[in-house]
Amino acid sequence: MASALAEHVSGLRLVDHHVHGAFTGELDRAEFEVHLCEGSPEPVPPWMTQFDSQLGFAIRRSCAPVLDLPAHVPADEYWARRTELGVPAVTERFLRAAAVSDWLVDTGYGAGTVLDVDAMAAASGARGHLVVRLESLAEELAADGVTGRDYADEFEARLERATRDAVAVKSILAYRSGLDIDLSPPAPHAVADAARRWVGSGEPRLTDPVLLRHGLHAAVRRGLPIQIHTGFGDRDLDLHRANPVHLLDFLRTPGVADVPVMLLHCYPYHREAGYLAQAFGNVHFDVGLAVNHVGVRSTQVVAESFELAPFAKQLYSSDAWGPPELHHLGAVLWRRAMTSVLGRWVEDGDWAVADALRVVDMVGRDNARRVYRLG
Ligand SMILES: [Zn+2]
Repeated sequence: MASALAEHVSGLRLVDHHVHGAFTGELDRAEFEVHLCEGSPEPVPPWMTQFDSQLGFAIRRSCAPVLDLPAHVPADEYWARRTELGVPAVTERFLRAAAVSDWLVDTGYGAGTVLDVDAMAAASGARGHLVVRLESLAEELAADGVTGRDYADEFEARLERATRDAVAVKSILAYRSGLDIDLSPPAPHAVADAARRWVGSGEPRLTDPVLLRHGLHAAVRRGLPIQIHTGFGDRDLDLHRANPVHLLDFLRTPGVADVPVMLLHCYPYHREAGYLAQAFGNVHFDVGLAVNHVGVRSTQVVAESFELAPFAKQLYSSDAWGPPELHHLGAVLWRRAMTSVLGRWVEDGDWAVADALRVVDMVGRDNARRVYRLG
């Protein structure tokens, strides 16, 4: 029974419903180690290595074999082999080893340093789909000097154009204002005033709460699934203000129930996310990002994600950005956790094996296909 489950999980081609591109250029080891740490953007101090972390150990365990090395190889040997193979070969090996059929790629961060949607598809032999970041679109408007009463109409027109070939939009409002602000639709005159203030200030980065809210509600009207960053991220965000329970009033707003709301990452608030997925028909969530960064403990996080939420409301995501190890490892750790957690329930006689196989397919592939209409 357990081996049938393990075989099924390892044979499933996943839909990674929220991910970014892999790096295009060479990195030195110090830069690479910075990207093994989500919380801090600073260089790793000389008296430690970021390989000495759950993520670092998981890379040595599960990424080394993809580069023809034994599991648990020391970090120096890992790095030497990686350098020897070169970026294109390393990237291709990891993206293919992930056994993902579809990548839903948020292109809103680091464009030019990471692969775009088509390049991700080409390097992996899988399909790529575009996710449009709302705040980046707003920042293009500001850069073009669109302001005052023109702002709302122009935002709507550009959103329509930008998302013609997209499967979803994404908001990083958690980073810009926190989720604990008034998230009701702003009045037109308030949008015009806020746009005038922002564009007049010359500040390229959007942090104005009125315009963040406006973007979110324009997306609701557009009708595509809305991915929202919640929980864990770099220290730029106030973690306690990124708890998805702050979205309660937004989720109760008329019209919002008509679009799928996809809570991303969620950790350490994945139990709150599970509650919201139970309480609101349109809310879905994942535990991406954390799955990589907590390494072997991802079993626990995945187990906790299987508490309140209906199984039709959960999705797989790596949230990998940069090192292609992360695109691969997310899939490895998710498969490992699902096999172990569901396998235990089957073993104990609490779940039928046929149900476990079905739930693996739902969370790993079918829920995403349904929500994003992937066909
Ligand atoms: Zn992301």
